[in-house]
Amino acid sequence: MTERLSAVKGMNDITPPVSAHWEWLEDTLRGLMRRYGYRNLRTPIVEPTALFVRGLGEVTDIVEKEMYSFEDRLNGEQLTLRPENTAGVVRAALEHSLLYDGGKRLYYMGPMFRHERPQRGRYRQFHQFGAEALGFAGPDVDAELIVLACDLWAELGLTGIELEINSLGQPAERLAHRQALITYLEGHADLLDEDARRRLHSNPLRILDTKNPAMQDLVNAAPRLMDHLGAESLAHFERLRSLLDAHGIAYRINPRLVRGMDYYNLSVFEFVTTQLGSQGTVCAGGRYDGLFEQMGGKPAPAVGWALGMERILELLKEQGRLPEVPVPDAYAVVPDEARVAEVMPVLRQLRLQGVSVQMHAAGPEGMGSMKSQFKKADASGARYALIFGEQEMREGTVALKPLRGPRGESDGGQSLLRIDSVADWGSRLR
Ligand code: ATP
Ligand code: MG
Repeated sequence: MTERLSAVKGMNDITPPVSAHWEWLEDTLRGLMRRYGYRNLRTPIVEPTALFVRGLGEVTDIVEKEMYSFEDRLNGEQLTLRPENTAGVVRAALEHSLLYDGGKRLYYMGPMFRHERPQRGRYRQFHQFGAEALGFAGPDVDAELIVLACDLWAELGLTGIELEINSLGQPAERLAHRQALITYLEGHADLLDEDARRRLHSNPLRILDTKNPAMQDLVNAAPRLMDHLGAESLAHFERLRSLLDAHGIAYRINPRLVRGMDYYNLSVFEFVTTQLGSQGTVCAGGRYDGLFEQMGGKPAPAVGWALGMERILELLKEQGRLPEVPVPDAYAVVPDEARVAEVMPVLRQLRLQGVSVQMHAAGPEGMGSMKSQFKKADASGARYALIFGEQEMREGTVALKPLRGPRGESDGGQSLLRIDSVADWGSRLR
Protein backbone atom coordinates (compact mmCIF):
# COMPACT_ATOMS: atom_id res chain seq x y z
CA MET A 1 0.00 0.00 0.00
CA THR A 2 1.14 3.54 -0.69
CA GLU A 3 2.17 5.43 2.40
CA ARG A 4 -0.31 8.09 3.46
CA LEU A 5 1.12 11.58 3.87
CA SER A 6 0.12 13.83 6.75
CA ALA A 7 0.32 17.55 7.37
CA VAL A 8 3.58 18.99 8.69
CA LYS A 9 3.87 18.79 12.48
CA GLY A 10 2.43 21.86 14.16
CA MET A 11 0.57 22.91 11.02
CA ASN A 12 -3.15 22.25 11.09
CA ASP A 13 -5.92 21.71 8.61
CA ILE A 14 -9.00 23.69 9.47
CA THR A 15 -11.94 21.54 8.46
CA PRO A 16 -15.70 22.05 8.56
CA PRO A 17 -17.52 22.65 10.84
CA VAL A 18 -14.65 24.39 12.70
CA SER A 19 -13.83 26.50 9.64
CA ALA A 20 -17.23 28.18 10.12
CA HIS A 21 -16.00 29.50 13.47
CA TRP A 22 -12.99 30.95 11.72
CA GLU A 23 -15.16 32.65 9.12
CA TRP A 24 -17.36 34.09 11.83
CA LEU A 25 -14.33 35.46 13.71
CA GLU A 26 -12.91 36.90 10.49
CA ASP A 27 -16.23 38.57 9.64
CA THR A 28 -16.49 40.01 13.14
CA LEU A 29 -12.96 41.41 12.87
CA ARG A 30 -13.61 42.93 9.44
CA GLY A 31 -16.80 44.58 10.65
CA LEU A 32 -15.06 46.10 13.65
CA MET A 33 -12.10 47.34 11.60
CA ARG A 34 -14.47 49.01 9.14
CA ARG A 35 -16.13 50.91 11.97
CA TYR A 36 -12.76 52.09 13.25
CA GLY A 37 -11.60 53.09 9.76
CA TYR A 38 -8.84 50.51 9.36
CA ARG A 39 -8.27 49.16 5.86
CA ASN A 40 -6.96 45.84 4.68
CA LEU A 41 -3.35 45.36 3.59
CA ARG A 42 -2.26 42.04 2.07
CA THR A 43 1.42 41.24 1.80
CA PRO A 44 3.22 38.09 0.64
CA ILE A 45 3.75 35.18 2.99
CA VAL A 46 7.38 34.90 1.85
CA GLU A 47 9.71 37.85 2.46
CA PRO A 48 13.47 38.36 2.20
CA THR A 49 15.11 36.93 5.34
CA ALA A 50 16.89 40.25 5.84
CA LEU A 51 13.55 41.94 6.48
CA PHE A 52 13.07 40.03 9.74
CA VAL A 53 16.72 40.05 10.79
CA ARG A 54 16.76 43.82 10.43
CA GLY A 55 13.22 44.44 11.63
CA LEU A 56 12.98 42.17 14.63
CA GLY A 57 16.62 42.16 15.73
CA GLU A 58 19.22 39.39 15.68
CA VAL A 59 18.93 38.52 19.36
CA THR A 60 15.26 37.63 19.46
CA ASP A 61 13.64 34.21 19.87
CA ILE A 62 12.15 34.49 16.42
CA VAL A 63 15.30 35.33 14.50
CA GLU A 64 17.58 33.13 16.60
CA LYS A 65 15.63 29.93 16.35
CA GLU A 66 12.07 30.14 15.05
CA MET A 67 12.26 31.15 11.41
CA TYR A 68 11.55 28.91 8.44
CA SER A 69 14.25 30.17 6.12
CA PHE A 70 15.40 28.76 2.84
CA GLU A 71 17.32 29.62 -0.24
CA ASP A 72 15.42 30.20 -3.47
CA ARG A 73 16.60 27.26 -5.55
CA LEU A 74 16.58 29.30 -8.72
CA ASN A 75 18.38 32.49 -7.77
CA GLY A 76 19.93 31.79 -4.37
CA GLU A 77 17.94 34.53 -2.62
CA GLN A 78 17.54 34.07 1.18
CA LEU A 79 13.84 33.87 1.95
CA THR A 80 11.71 33.33 5.05
CA LEU A 81 8.10 32.35 5.70
CA ARG A 82 6.85 35.35 7.63
CA PRO A 83 6.96 34.76 11.42
CA GLU A 84 5.02 38.02 12.00
CA ASN A 85 3.73 40.78 9.79
CA THR A 86 4.67 44.14 11.23
CA ALA A 87 7.97 44.17 9.36
CA GLY A 88 6.12 43.26 6.15
CA VAL A 89 3.57 46.03 6.69
CA VAL A 90 6.33 48.60 7.14
CA ARG A 91 8.16 47.29 4.08
CA ALA A 92 4.98 47.57 2.00
CA ALA A 93 4.20 51.04 3.37
CA LEU A 94 7.66 52.21 2.30
CA GLU A 95 7.56 50.43 -1.03
CA HIS A 96 4.22 52.00 -1.97
CA SER A 97 4.74 55.35 -0.18
CA LEU A 98 1.51 54.71 1.70
CA LEU A 99 2.20 57.59 4.08
CA TYR A 100 2.68 60.21 1.37
CA ASP A 101 -0.58 61.96 2.31
CA GLY A 102 -0.62 61.26 6.03
CA GLY A 103 -1.12 58.44 8.48
CA LYS A 104 -2.74 55.16 7.56
CA ARG A 105 -4.76 52.73 9.63
CA LEU A 106 -4.29 49.19 8.35
CA TYR A 107 -5.14 45.63 9.25
CA TYR A 108 -4.11 42.19 8.03
CA MET A 109 -4.86 38.59 8.79
CA GLY A 110 -3.29 35.37 7.74
CA PRO A 111 -0.87 32.57 8.51
CA MET A 112 2.47 33.10 10.26
CA PHE A 113 5.21 30.52 10.68
CA ARG A 114 7.47 29.85 13.65
CA HIS A 115 9.46 26.76 14.43
CA GLU A 116 8.30 26.26 18.00
CA ARG A 117 7.44 23.21 20.05
CA PRO A 118 3.82 22.49 19.15
CA GLN A 119 1.43 22.48 22.13
CA ARG A 120 -1.96 23.87 23.02
CA GLY A 121 -2.10 27.46 21.74
CA ARG A 122 1.31 27.18 20.08
CA TYR A 123 1.70 25.97 16.53
CA ARG A 124 4.20 26.20 13.71
CA GLN A 125 1.68 27.62 11.32
CA PHE A 126 -0.71 29.86 13.21
CA HIS A 127 -2.85 32.81 12.29
CA GLN A 128 -2.60 36.38 13.35
CA PHE A 129 -4.93 39.27 12.94
CA GLY A 130 -3.09 42.56 13.25
CA ALA A 131 -3.97 46.24 13.36
CA GLU A 132 -1.32 48.86 12.61
CA ALA A 133 -1.65 52.66 12.76
CA LEU A 134 1.20 54.15 10.73
CA GLY A 135 2.30 57.77 10.83
CA PHE A 136 0.62 58.70 14.12
CA ALA A 137 2.69 59.67 17.14
CA GLY A 138 -0.02 58.93 19.71
CA PRO A 139 -0.85 58.38 22.45
CA ASP A 140 -4.40 58.84 21.14
CA VAL A 141 -4.05 56.09 18.53
CA ASP A 142 -2.33 53.87 21.09
CA ALA A 143 -5.49 54.23 23.16
CA GLU A 144 -7.70 53.78 20.10
CA LEU A 145 -6.04 50.45 19.31
CA ILE A 146 -6.43 49.21 22.86
CA VAL A 147 -10.08 50.31 23.01
CA LEU A 148 -10.65 48.59 19.69
CA ALA A 149 -9.34 45.32 21.11
CA CYS A 150 -11.58 45.71 24.18
CA ASP A 151 -14.56 46.24 21.86
CA LEU A 152 -13.60 43.05 20.09
CA TRP A 153 -13.65 41.02 23.32
CA ALA A 154 -17.06 42.48 24.11
CA GLU A 155 -18.42 41.77 20.66
CA LEU A 156 -17.17 38.20 20.80
CA GLY A 157 -18.67 37.81 24.26
CA LEU A 158 -15.30 37.07 25.86
CA THR A 159 -14.60 37.87 29.47
CA GLY A 160 -11.62 37.56 31.78
CA ILE A 161 -9.11 39.12 29.38
CA GLU A 162 -6.83 41.45 31.29
CA LEU A 163 -4.81 44.31 29.96
CA GLU A 164 -1.20 44.90 30.96
CA ILE A 165 0.66 47.99 29.85
CA ASN A 166 4.14 49.39 30.19
CA SER A 167 6.36 52.01 28.62
CA LEU A 168 9.72 51.15 27.11
CA GLY A 169 10.65 54.81 26.76
CA GLN A 170 13.08 55.90 24.08
CA PRO A 171 16.35 54.21 23.02
CA ALA A 172 18.56 56.60 25.06
CA GLU A 173 16.52 55.93 28.20
CA ARG A 174 16.71 52.21 27.58
CA LEU A 175 20.47 52.48 27.26
CA ALA A 176 20.78 54.02 30.72
CA HIS A 177 18.52 51.36 32.17
CA ARG A 178 20.40 48.67 30.28
CA GLN A 179 23.63 49.62 32.03
CA ALA A 180 21.98 49.50 35.44
CA LEU A 181 20.38 46.19 34.56
CA ILE A 182 23.63 44.57 33.40
CA THR A 183 25.39 45.67 36.57
CA TYR A 184 22.56 44.23 38.67
CA LEU A 185 22.43 40.93 36.80
CA GLU A 186 26.22 40.58 36.87
CA GLY A 187 26.00 40.93 40.63
CA HIS A 188 23.75 37.84 40.65
CA ALA A 189 25.51 35.87 37.92
CA ASP A 190 25.08 32.62 39.85
CA LEU A 191 21.28 32.90 39.54
CA LEU A 192 21.23 33.35 35.76
CA ASP A 193 20.21 30.49 33.52
CA GLU A 194 22.01 29.72 30.28
CA ASP A 195 19.68 31.85 28.14
CA ALA A 196 20.09 34.82 30.46
CA ARG A 197 23.87 34.50 30.54
CA ARG A 198 23.96 34.45 26.77
CA ARG A 199 21.75 37.55 26.55
CA LEU A 200 23.38 39.47 29.39
CA HIS A 201 25.30 41.72 27.03
CA SER A 202 23.38 41.33 23.79
CA ASN A 203 19.81 41.85 24.97
CA PRO A 204 19.51 42.11 28.77
CA LEU A 205 16.03 43.63 28.64
CA ARG A 206 14.72 40.36 27.26
CA ILE A 207 15.94 38.56 30.37
CA LEU A 208 13.15 40.33 32.27
CA ASP A 209 10.69 38.42 30.08
CA THR A 210 12.04 35.04 31.22
CA LYS A 211 9.52 32.31 31.95
CA ASN A 212 12.00 30.41 34.15
CA PRO A 213 10.36 30.14 37.61
CA ALA A 214 13.77 30.03 39.30
CA MET A 215 14.57 33.53 38.02
CA GLN A 216 11.30 35.29 38.91
CA ASP A 217 12.53 36.74 42.24
CA LEU A 218 15.66 37.99 40.55
CA VAL A 219 13.87 39.77 37.73
CA ASN A 220 11.16 41.11 40.02
CA ALA A 221 13.77 43.00 42.00
CA ALA A 222 15.70 44.21 38.94
CA PRO A 223 16.09 47.92 38.16
CA ARG A 224 12.94 49.17 36.46
CA LEU A 225 12.95 50.80 33.08
CA MET A 226 10.09 53.00 34.25
CA ASP A 227 12.46 54.69 36.71
CA HIS A 228 14.75 55.71 33.84
CA LEU A 229 12.14 57.37 31.65
CA GLY A 230 12.41 61.09 30.92
CA ALA A 231 9.62 63.64 31.19
CA GLU A 232 8.40 63.26 27.61
CA SER A 233 8.14 59.49 27.74
CA LEU A 234 6.39 59.66 31.07
CA ALA A 235 3.93 62.23 29.72
CA HIS A 236 3.13 59.97 26.74
CA PHE A 237 2.47 57.10 29.13
CA GLU A 238 0.38 59.21 31.52
CA ARG A 239 -1.75 60.49 28.64
CA LEU A 240 -2.35 56.94 27.43
CA ARG A 241 -3.39 55.98 30.94
CA SER A 242 -5.80 58.88 31.23
CA LEU A 243 -7.35 58.04 27.85
CA LEU A 244 -7.88 54.45 28.98
CA ASP A 245 -9.36 55.74 32.23
CA ALA A 246 -11.72 57.93 30.22
CA HIS A 247 -13.05 54.75 28.60
CA GLY A 248 -13.33 52.96 31.91
CA ILE A 249 -10.81 50.40 30.74
CA ALA A 250 -9.02 48.60 33.54
CA TYR A 251 -5.33 47.78 33.20
CA ARG A 252 -2.36 46.72 35.21
CA ILE A 253 1.03 48.33 34.82
CA ASN A 254 3.57 45.56 34.38
CA PRO A 255 7.05 47.08 34.57
CA ARG A 256 8.53 43.82 33.27
CA LEU A 257 6.50 43.75 30.08
CA VAL A 258 9.08 44.03 27.30
CA ARG A 259 7.81 42.12 24.22
CA GLY A 260 9.79 39.83 21.98
CA MET A 261 10.89 42.14 19.18
CA ASP A 262 13.49 44.86 19.42
CA TYR A 263 11.49 47.42 17.49
CA TYR A 264 9.22 48.61 20.29
CA ASN A 265 9.42 51.92 22.17
CA LEU A 266 7.08 53.85 24.50
CA SER A 267 3.74 52.02 24.84
CA VAL A 268 3.70 48.24 24.99
CA PHE A 269 0.71 46.14 26.04
CA GLU A 270 -0.60 42.63 26.22
CA PHE A 271 -4.03 41.14 26.74
CA VAL A 272 -3.76 38.02 28.86
CA THR A 273 -6.07 35.35 30.22
CA THR A 274 -5.55 32.67 32.82
CA GLN A 275 -7.92 30.31 30.99
CA LEU A 276 -5.53 29.00 28.34
CA GLY A 277 -2.82 27.44 30.44
CA SER A 278 0.64 28.80 29.84
CA GLN A 279 -0.21 30.23 26.39
CA GLY A 280 -2.21 33.02 27.96
CA THR A 281 -1.32 36.03 25.81
CA VAL A 282 -4.07 36.47 23.26
CA CYS A 283 -3.09 39.86 21.85
CA ALA A 284 0.08 41.91 22.08
CA GLY A 285 1.52 45.06 20.64
CA GLY A 286 3.04 48.44 21.12
CA ARG A 287 4.64 51.43 19.55
CA TYR A 288 7.51 51.07 17.10
CA ASP A 289 8.56 54.58 16.11
CA GLY A 290 12.04 53.51 15.02
CA LEU A 291 11.12 50.77 12.58
CA PHE A 292 10.55 52.84 9.46
CA GLU A 293 14.01 54.36 9.74
CA GLN A 294 15.53 50.99 10.61
CA MET A 295 14.03 49.69 7.36
CA GLY A 296 15.74 52.42 5.40
CA GLY A 297 12.75 54.73 5.14
CA LYS A 298 11.88 58.21 6.27
CA PRO A 299 11.18 58.11 10.02
CA ALA A 300 7.51 57.67 10.87
CA PRO A 301 5.86 56.86 14.18
CA ALA A 302 3.70 53.75 14.34
CA VAL A 303 1.81 51.53 16.74
CA GLY A 304 -0.02 48.24 16.40
CA TRP A 305 -0.98 44.90 17.83
CA ALA A 306 -1.45 41.34 16.70
CA LEU A 307 -3.74 38.70 18.10
CA GLY A 308 -3.41 34.95 17.86
CA MET A 309 -6.58 33.71 16.19
CA GLU A 310 -6.17 30.12 17.42
CA ARG A 311 -5.95 31.35 21.00
CA ILE A 312 -9.03 33.55 20.61
CA LEU A 313 -10.99 30.63 19.17
CA GLU A 314 -9.77 28.37 21.96
CA LEU A 315 -10.93 30.93 24.52
CA LEU A 316 -14.30 31.30 22.78
CA LYS A 317 -14.68 27.54 23.03
CA GLU A 318 -13.61 27.53 26.66
CA GLN A 319 -16.23 30.19 27.46
CA GLY A 320 -18.97 28.57 25.34
CA ARG A 321 -19.10 31.55 23.01
CA LEU A 322 -18.70 29.88 19.64
CA PRO A 323 -21.72 30.47 17.42
CA GLU A 324 -23.80 27.68 15.98
CA VAL A 325 -22.51 26.46 12.66
CA PRO A 326 -24.72 27.81 9.84
CA VAL A 327 -27.13 25.31 8.32
CA PRO A 328 -28.82 25.39 4.89
CA ASP A 329 -32.24 26.99 4.65
CA ALA A 330 -33.57 24.13 2.59
CA TYR A 331 -32.73 20.61 1.49
CA ALA A 332 -34.08 19.39 -1.83
CA VAL A 333 -35.45 15.86 -1.84
CA VAL A 334 -35.60 14.50 -5.38
CA PRO A 335 -37.08 10.99 -5.62
CA ASP A 336 -36.47 10.53 -9.35
CA GLU A 337 -33.05 11.18 -10.85
CA ALA A 338 -34.73 11.91 -14.21
CA ARG A 339 -36.13 15.12 -12.67
CA VAL A 340 -32.73 16.51 -11.63
CA ALA A 341 -32.37 18.60 -14.80
CA GLU A 342 -35.63 20.41 -13.96
CA VAL A 343 -34.92 20.70 -10.24
CA MET A 344 -31.43 22.17 -10.41
CA PRO A 345 -32.47 25.39 -12.20
CA VAL A 346 -35.23 25.92 -9.59
CA LEU A 347 -32.67 25.64 -6.81
CA ARG A 348 -30.45 28.05 -8.67
CA GLN A 349 -33.32 30.56 -8.63
CA LEU A 350 -33.50 30.20 -4.88
CA ARG A 351 -29.79 30.77 -4.46
CA LEU A 352 -30.09 33.94 -6.53
CA GLN A 353 -32.57 35.06 -3.86
CA GLY A 354 -29.92 34.46 -1.20
CA VAL A 355 -31.42 31.21 0.06
CA SER A 356 -28.98 28.44 0.85
CA VAL A 357 -30.13 25.14 -0.59
CA GLN A 358 -28.55 21.73 -0.70
CA MET A 359 -29.74 19.23 -3.26
CA HIS A 360 -29.72 15.57 -2.50
CA ALA A 361 -27.01 14.14 -4.73
CA ALA A 362 -27.19 10.79 -6.45
CA GLY A 363 -25.15 7.88 -5.12
CA PRO A 364 -24.00 4.82 -7.06
CA GLU A 365 -27.55 3.42 -6.77
CA GLY A 366 -29.34 6.56 -7.89
CA MET A 367 -31.11 9.00 -5.57
CA GLY A 368 -31.93 6.47 -2.85
CA SER A 369 -35.20 5.94 -0.98
CA MET A 370 -37.35 8.81 0.29
CA LYS A 371 -36.58 7.61 3.78
CA SER A 372 -32.82 7.86 3.31
CA GLN A 373 -33.21 11.25 1.62
CA PHE A 374 -35.22 12.57 4.56
CA LYS A 375 -32.58 11.28 6.92
CA LYS A 376 -29.98 13.30 5.04
CA ALA A 377 -32.28 16.32 4.97
CA ASP A 378 -32.63 16.12 8.71
CA ALA A 379 -28.92 15.65 9.29
CA SER A 380 -28.16 18.71 7.16
CA GLY A 381 -29.89 20.84 9.79
CA ALA A 382 -32.01 22.55 7.12
CA ARG A 383 -35.16 24.37 8.20
CA TYR A 384 -37.17 23.08 5.25
CA ALA A 385 -37.31 20.12 2.94
CA LEU A 386 -38.41 20.88 -0.60
CA ILE A 387 -39.83 17.67 -1.97
CA PHE A 388 -39.79 17.46 -5.74
CA GLY A 389 -42.13 14.43 -5.89
CA GLU A 390 -43.26 12.89 -9.17
CA GLN A 391 -46.95 13.67 -8.69
CA GLU A 392 -46.32 17.26 -7.49
CA MET A 393 -43.96 18.05 -10.34
CA ARG A 394 -46.44 16.81 -12.89
CA GLU A 395 -48.84 19.41 -11.46
CA GLY A 396 -46.19 22.14 -11.51
CA THR A 397 -45.75 22.15 -7.74
CA VAL A 398 -43.26 21.18 -5.03
CA ALA A 399 -44.02 20.14 -1.46
CA LEU A 400 -42.63 22.26 1.34
CA LYS A 401 -42.10 20.54 4.66
CA PRO A 402 -40.82 22.42 7.70
CA LEU A 403 -38.17 20.29 9.39
CA ARG A 404 -37.64 22.42 12.44
CA GLY A 405 -39.15 25.59 13.79
CA PRO A 406 -37.25 28.50 15.28
CA ARG A 407 -36.64 26.41 18.40
CA GLY A 408 -35.62 23.27 16.60
CA GLU A 409 -38.99 21.49 16.69
CA SER A 410 -40.87 20.51 13.56
CA ASP A 411 -44.36 21.96 13.26
CA GLY A 412 -45.36 19.11 11.02
CA GLY A 413 -47.64 20.63 8.41
CA GLN A 414 -46.68 20.28 4.77
CA SER A 415 -47.80 22.69 2.05
CA LEU A 416 -47.57 23.01 -1.70
CA LEU A 417 -45.70 25.73 -3.61
CA ARG A 418 -46.06 26.38 -7.30
CA ILE A 419 -42.68 25.76 -8.95
CA ASP A 420 -42.85 29.11 -10.72
CA SER A 421 -43.31 30.87 -7.39
CA VAL A 422 -40.57 29.10 -5.46
CA ALA A 423 -38.27 32.09 -5.96
CA ASP A 424 -40.91 34.36 -4.36
CA TRP A 425 -41.10 32.04 -1.40
CA GLY A 426 -37.28 32.21 -1.22
CA SER A 427 -37.23 36.00 -1.28
CA ARG A 428 -39.67 36.10 1.66
CA LEU A 429 -37.56 33.62 3.58
CA ARG A 430 -34.57 35.91 3.84
P1 ATP B 1 4.56 34.05 23.23
O1 ATP B 1 5.14 34.79 24.36
O2 ATP B 1 3.29 33.30 23.57
O3 ATP B 1 5.54 33.21 22.47
P2 ATP B 1 4.99 36.15 21.35
O4 ATP B 1 5.41 37.29 22.18
O5 ATP B 1 6.01 35.34 20.64
O6 ATP B 1 4.05 35.16 22.21
P3 ATP B 1 3.84 37.83 19.32
O7 ATP B 1 4.96 37.68 18.40
O8 ATP B 1 3.65 39.09 20.05
O9 ATP B 1 3.85 36.60 20.35
O10 ATP B 1 2.49 37.46 18.55
C1 ATP B 1 1.23 38.01 18.89
C2 ATP B 1 0.26 36.92 19.27
O11 ATP B 1 0.29 35.85 18.35
C3 ATP B 1 0.58 36.26 20.59
O12 ATP B 1 0.09 37.02 21.65
C4 ATP B 1 -0.16 34.95 20.47
O13 ATP B 1 -1.54 35.13 20.76
C5 ATP B 1 0.01 34.63 19.01
N1 ATP B 1 1.10 33.66 18.80
C6 ATP B 1 2.43 33.88 18.81
N2 ATP B 1 3.13 32.76 18.54
C7 ATP B 1 2.18 31.79 18.34
C8 ATP B 1 2.25 30.40 18.01
N3 ATP B 1 3.41 29.78 17.80
N4 ATP B 1 1.09 29.71 17.89
C9 ATP B 1 -0.10 30.31 18.08
N5 ATP B 1 -0.22 31.61 18.39
C10 ATP B 1 0.90 32.35 18.52
MG1 MG C 1 6.99 33.52 21.01
